[in-house]
Amino acid sequence: MAIHLRAHSFAANPLRGLSASSAVSPSAASEALRSLLDPGAGADAASPHRHLSKILPFRQGRPLARSPDTPPPAAPAWSLAWLPPSRVPGVPPDAFVFLGAHGEGDGKEAAAYWAVDVSEGDASRVGGAGDGSAFVDLRTLMMATDWSDKDAMGELAVAGHARALIEWHSTAKFCGACGAKAVPTEAGRRKQCSDESCKKRIYPRVDPVVIMLVIDKENDRALLSRQSRFVPRMWSCLAGFIEPGESLEEAVRRETLEETGIEVGQVIYHSSQPWPVGPSTMPCQLMVGFFAYAKSLEIHVDKQELEDAQWHSREDIKRALTFAEYEKAQRTNAFKVNQICKGAEKGMSVSSDLRAESSESAPMFVPGPYAIAHHLISSWAFEGAPNVPSSFSNL
Ligand SMILES: [Zn+2]
Repeated sequence: MAIHLRAHSFAANPLRGLSASSAVSPSAASEALRSLLDPGAGADAASPHRHLSKILPFRQGRPLARSPDTPPPAAPAWSLAWLPPSRVPGVPPDAFVFLGAHGEGDGKEAAAYWAVDVSEGDASRVGGAGDGSAFVDLRTLMMATDWSDKDAMGELAVAGHARALIEWHSTAKFCGACGAKAVPTEAGRRKQCSDESCKKRIYPRVDPVVIMLVIDKENDRALLSRQSRFVPRMWSCLAGFIEPGESLEEAVRRETLEETGIEVGQVIYHSSQPWPVGPSTMPCQLMVGFFAYAKSLEIHVDKQELEDAQWHSREDIKRALTFAEYEKAQRTNAFKVNQICKGAEKGMSVSSDLRAESSESAPMFVPGPYAIAHHLISSWAFEGAPNVPSSFSNL
């Protein structure tokens, strides 16, 4: 069966887009935050703010999370551990990055949401001190998230957006044109060169990546590949960066030819996914997913790029998409996050996928439902099958 998703992991952020509120503007949010961080400054401090300010601290790219115990058989659901400004002392107001706001309604107060890096200096005492919260690797949180739980997916999207901005701030420290210091503007959502004669505006970076399922229509097979960094038995789609002056379709054809020697004809867009869990030098990749129809079938693997690439029948691929295994892996990771938050696995990065869990099962598997590769593969494998909900119909 296919897994029904409302949106890809990291998309559909409840603090952004159409679902977000414009009740609290970035400038009003900034003003309120400044007076809360330094109550002695200015006359505004005495006036009541019309919204709450909530802070999400990050340490080494990891957000602060909590995971309350849940009565069995449910797996514990993690959530972000928002702090009031009073719990984040010693951080300059400019270091905070505005994430968005929620308006009043449904019994909730209006709130502005912020992220801040507390990896260094006085701030390194913030959060995670035996109060049931801990800084948890975003990849582990991603694998621990129940993809059928809309609220949990919303938390993950907020964490991903926040991490992308925090990592961007830590790498975009200087102006690329003149080398002067870059300073945050617009509540941390942009930067600007501090040199008066330059003043170049600097925008958060997104790195697009094409990801494609190459299909042999005639023989009803799809091409899956392995990279040496993959866990054993995992196979996935081909992927690659776009070169300057190249269209997405051209990148799909070039990457497929370079890595496997296969010529691609028709290229059909599927969906796209923000991917803020890559290397910190790429704070947010955008995975753009395609079906790519092969014109030639002989494989010549570029061993610099890939360990292997092979055609797999639709039946083999269906067997690799064993739903129960993904559910089991998600639960295992949810319990691991719970242990980390309790301090039982302090500071550990746990990124167990299907390594231990699937010893008895299929000879291969594909990435979990948190990755666009899963949905490219499953929507091809189950296309046209009766009574199978599409996994991407409303993405
Ligand atoms: Zn400059």
